[in-house]
Amino acid sequence: MKIAFIGLGNMGGGMAANLVKAGHEVRAFDLAEEALAKARANGCETFGTVQEAVQGVEAVVSMLPNGAIVDKVYSEDVLGHAPQGAVLLDCSTIDVATAKKVVEAASAAGYEAVDAPVSGGIAAANAGTLTFMVGGTDSAFARAEPLLAKMGKAVIHAGAAGAGQAAKICNNMLLGIHMIGTCEAFAMAEKLGLDPQKFYDISSVSSGQCWSMTSYCPVPGVGPQSPSDNGYQGGFASALMLKDLKLAMEAAQTSGAKVPMGERAKELYDEFVAASNGGVDFSGIIKTL
Ligand code: NAD
Repeated sequence: MKIAFIGLGNMGGGMAANLVKAGHEVRAFDLAEEALAKARANGCETFGTVQEAVQGVEAVVSMLPNGAIVDKVYSEDVLGHAPQGAVLLDCSTIDVATAKKVVEAASAAGYEAVDAPVSGGIAAANAGTLTFMVGGTDSAFARAEPLLAKMGKAVIHAGAAGAGQAAKICNNMLLGIHMIGTCEAFAMAEKLGLDPQKFYDISSVSSGQCWSMTSYCPVPGVGPQSPSDNGYQGGFASALMLKDLKLAMEAAQTSGAKVPMGERAKELYDEFVAASNGGVDFSGIIKTL
């Protein structure tokens, strides 16, 4: 299948390479020459504009930084330029309102489209083991699913347009909250004279157990290998956690949801990122406690 891929950064680069590996003809575009060179090395054909990249394709996949860019790229360069009948898949993490707007505009222009944000970081994008949460009609999902399966280990239909983004930000709000809770518990355990390993042995099989503790422990040398064992480098950058928490707060406001813990998590990551820690893994917030 001929597929256009727009946005070949940390995530999109690996995802486009996996579509090539699956036998697809990938027509790629990014604003950065470095990203284009990497895509060529991975077997993509690259183009100077989005409008050229989408010529003759059956699907368009995008992995871009934010909602304003996604909206602009689709409204100006994809809709009316990609062939009628192409299916459109935006995998970026963006706000729910823009995700719905993009799918609605696509539908009005005669395209089927989905929002399909991912869980999993750069390593999962490269390995093709992302989890996709998808919003859109049954028919759009049926067309998107086989393509997403080439880039991920799980593809879940969350509901109508925007539901993929809703699932993503609710999940990541919960992640931010339980990471901070896990950091607080380890920090207090230490102040109370508990050995971190002993606390882990107990809490990881007790009711305080959660993913931040057992899969991503913020204390070095405790639990399975995680960014804390690597000086809090790699993994999921605090700036991206803050981006997702901001999107969650926007969604809480527009939907009228009460999220006091989410608000506090956003404030704490805001302070952490403002103190030059944007590139530090999000478990590094333990250093502030
Ligand atoms: P990135 O900054 O590495 O890549 C974004 C790419 O988009 C860049 O190469 C940039 O040049 C390109 N770009 C920007 N504007 C463009 C335009 N108008 N046309 C074409 N290309 C353009 O970011 P990333 O880490 O790959 O993240 C991409 C998306 O994935 C974001 O929405 C992010 O929130 C989400 N995400 C990231 C991770 C992660 O761990 N990095 C995990 C899950 C989701």
